[in-house]
Amino acid sequence: MTHWWQAGDSVWREETEAATPASTRFVLEAVKDVPRIDWQLARARLPDVAQLIGAALPTTCAHATIYPQGFAFCPECGAPLHPARAAPHSAWWGATSGPLPADAAPLPRHVPHGLPQTALPLAAALETRPAEPFVGQADLRMPAPPNAVCVFAAADFGFAAQRLLALAYTRNVLQYWDPPGARWHVFTAEEGSADLHFAASGYAWLPPGVSPVRGEFGIVPTARGLYRLIVNPLAESYRTQAVFEAPLAASPGAVGRRIAVPFVAPDGLRLWTASADGADPEVLEIGPSAPTAGWTTPFSYDGRLHWLHEDGQLLWRPGQPPRWLPWPFPWTPRLQFGGPVRSRDGRLWLIGNDGAGYAFREVGTELPGGAPQVEPIGGARLGFGTLLFRRGHQVKDDPWAVEDVEDQSRGDALVLPLLEAVSVTRSQPSGLVLRFEQFTGRAEAALAGEVLPRTLIEWIGQRNVILDEVARLKHPQACVPFVWHGSLWLHHPSWNEIRGWKLEGLA
Ligand SMILES: [Zn+2]
Repeated sequence: MTHWWQAGDSVWREETEAATPASTRFVLEAVKDVPRIDWQLARARLPDVAQLIGAALPTTCAHATIYPQGFAFCPECGAPLHPARAAPHSAWWGATSGPLPADAAPLPRHVPHGLPQTALPLAAALETRPAEPFVGQADLRMPAPPNAVCVFAAADFGFAAQRLLALAYTRNVLQYWDPPGARWHVFTAEEGSADLHFAASGYAWLPPGVSPVRGEFGIVPTARGLYRLIVNPLAESYRTQAVFEAPLAASPGAVGRRIAVPFVAPDGLRLWTASADGADPEVLEIGPSAPTAGWTTPFSYDGRLHWLHEDGQLLWRPGQPPRWLPWPFPWTPRLQFGGPVRSRDGRLWLIGNDGAGYAFREVGTELPGGAPQVEPIGGARLGFGTLLFRRGHQVKDDPWAVEDVEDQSRGDALVLPLLEAVSVTRSQPSGLVLRFEQFTGRAEAALAGEVLPRTLIEWIGQRNVILDEVARLKHPQACVPFVWHGSLWLHHPSWNEIRGWKLEGLA
């Protein structure tokens, strides 16, 4: 006998023949707004699938391996069932200039959007740990995704449980973490999907806007254009929808109600812009001399989008033409040192070198012929936002101000900020950093592949907490921090495992 069950937004088929194995007694046939279900694949990870759709799992009997949503008892024997519910958690979208949903703790308006910053209350959770010089250890470890150069997003994507995705954008691979099964799955592209490879410039996506379709991951850059990426964990697959097709020069950004991306036209760089859903598109001239690759990920600030490059900056304010401003010779930026930093009066600055020494140069000056302010400094400074260090010492005032020396011996270290925690109730900049102990070489060398004998993973705040230590690290700026399942995680493409620290009290 075959029974059909409508449960929540799902349709199930039940086979009640005595010979039916428990694994095929209930088969998920359809879920609203999910185009395809691959039950062969789903059956291999039923606890995960049950959480995604809110189905029930057996406790004491073995008449079926999964039951439809809302089933409290086994229909065969009356044994109680267990609803597969996952606790809600804060969402994570990484550094993006796109608007964040409320469950991802949107940044306040007064900071740039698109830098590695978060408004999640990490400090309250991490600063309860023993302070330095105590050296802690990661609480949790998970295997690195098989394709390790990737960016992470954690959200429910319209399903009943939050999941972690790792998009390997240099390999065209989308990877999905199955928490109950504790393993990564590589999703396959549905027929006709775009290649997700993008390596022309720094990688950043735009999270889905209001009322996303089920599975929507957001708008991603590819070598051939901007695509809406939609994942289907019930078929271990994804599909794409074209938003704008052209060879992209950089990652997309968002400002106000507009999104924008530079692309390569036969006669040079142009800027495509549209409303957040892709409607009302417009193409704007940039000019023949602007580079077609090698841009940083964009950030928005004060109603304007910025892309930075070794050769200059690209600025765009909706309603105005984009402006390409080459840096004045012989000043060149040090983009690898972090990103734009903010002075007390709210202006943004970028560190660079003119051959004679380092200086901060004001960025975003739009006045034709306007002379941006330049502030010379005595040595390299690493950071972005307001989280900035000169060697081992934090710079707490304006970016060019004298560093705060609490401990002279810190001069033998070099600190690289990874993630700034933005808080409206805190004046001291806080965040996650790497501290390279006993490193007296140039900052450029530390970031260019030199082996760093001992690195501390450290939280800087009202109290400093050493979270872990790492031996023989190379390319430290490849570290990717993210928050998932109430923990802070740190991934490096050369590590076999992602390290995690529990954030007590954070959902
Ligand atoms: Zn039973």
